[in-house]
Amino acid sequence: MSKYDYLVVGSGLFGAVFAQKAYQKGNKVLVIDKRRHIAGNVYTEKIEGINVHKYGAHIFHTNNKEVWEYINQFAEFNRFTNSPVANYKGELYSLPFNMYTFNKMWGVANPEEAQKEIEKQRSEIKHKPQNLEEQAISLVGRDIYEKLIKGYTEKQWGRECRELPAFIIKRLPVRFTFDNNYFNALYQGIPVGGYTKMVLNMLEGIEVRLGIDYLEQKEEYNTLADKIIYTGAIDAYFNYALGCLQYRSVRFETEVLEQSNYQGNAAVNYTDCETPWTRIIEHKWFEFGKDEFGFEVPKTIISKEYSSEWKLGDEPYYPVNDEKNSLLYSKYKKMAEDEEKVIFGGRLGEYKYYDMDQVIAKALELCRKIL
Ligand code: UDP
Repeated sequence: MSKYDYLVVGSGLFGAVFAQKAYQKGNKVLVIDKRRHIAGNVYTEKIEGINVHKYGAHIFHTNNKEVWEYINQFAEFNRFTNSPVANYKGELYSLPFNMYTFNKMWGVANPEEAQKEIEKQRSEIKHKPQNLEEQAISLVGRDIYEKLIKGYTEKQWGRECRELPAFIIKRLPVRFTFDNNYFNALYQGIPVGGYTKMVLNMLEGIEVRLGIDYLEQKEEYNTLADKIIYTGAIDAYFNYALGCLQYRSVRFETEVLEQSNYQGNAAVNYTDCETPWTRIIEHKWFEFGKDEFGFEVPKTIISKEYSSEWKLGDEPYYPVNDEKNSLLYSKYKKMAEDEEKVIFGGRLGEYKYYDMDQVIAKALELCRKIL
C-alpha cells in the first residue's frame, strides 16, 4: 500500500493549491521540491526589512472572485497597483499605453487627438495581424511600437517581433483614459509579509521535503503515492525524449543600495535595445517603502533583470508558445496522457504562459475534478 494519497512535485502555486485542498479533504499528502525553499518562483526573501521577489516581480491580479477569495484565506493583500514606467533612452513614459503615454509621445491633449494619431499610424497594417510586430502596430501605431515595444520584446524573448505570436502583446491594455493601472483586474495586490509566508500558510500541516530532485529518484518516489501531481517542465519529465521545448530564462543582479529611493517606482522597463537588462525592480515599493512594523526602510534593494535563452541547467521561466514549440508540446501532452498515475499542471507542466491567478484557477479546477 502506498504511504501517501498524493505526491506533489513542486511547491509553487499549482502544487501548493492542490496540496492544500487535498490535505483539507483528509488525504495524505507529501510535497517535494528540488529547491531548498518552498513557493517556486513566487518565493520572496526578507533582506534589510524588504521582501525581495527573488524570481522577479510578482504582482497578484485577477478578475476571478473564486480565486481571490481562495487566496485571501492565506494572506492579507495590500493595495499595490502596478503602474510601471518605461525608460526609452532617458525619456520616461507611462505604462500601459494610456493618455499619459500618448501625451508624452505626441503632445496630444485629449482622447480624440490620440485616437486620430493611432488611426493614422495603424493604417499601415491592412490585414489581420500575423505576428507581434503587426499586432503591436495595429494596436498603438509605429511610434509606440518602435520606442516602447520593439526593444523590450526582442530582449525579453530573444527573437524578432515578426517571429513572435501576436497574443503576447494582447496582454497589455490600451486605454484612452488617464488610467495607468497596468492590469485590467478587479482585484490586485501583494501579500503582506511576502509570498513565502502565504505559501507557508497554504502548506500548514503538510509534510514538505526540500532539496529533492524527483526526476533523479522517480521510481522510488512513485512507489510512495497513489497519484502524482507533477508541476515541473513536461519535457524534462520525459527526459527530453522528443527534444527540448524552448523557454526563456531570467537572471537577476540584485544590489542593496545605501540610499532610500533609487527609481521612485517598483518597476521601470528599459525599452531600448541597447540597455542589456529588460527592467529594474525596486522591491521596497511593492510595500510602499515600509517594513512590517510600518517604519520607512532606510536602504533600498534593486534587481536588474536579464533575459536569456534557456539551456539545460537553467531555470525555465517563460514558455515560448510559438508554433514550433506548441506542436512539440502537443506531442509531449499525448505522452503525458498515457502516464496514468501522473497529472501535469502549472506553467511548466502545461507549457503555458499562465499568470498566477490562472495557475490557481487551474489547480482549483483539478481539485474539483478529482478530489
Ligand atoms: N511589453 C513591451 N513593453 C513593455 C512591457 C511589455 O513591449 O514595456 C510586451 C512584451 O512583448 C512582453 C509583453 O508585452 O513580453 C507582456 O508583458 P508583461 O509585462 O505582461 O510580461 P511579464 O510581466 O509576464 O513578464
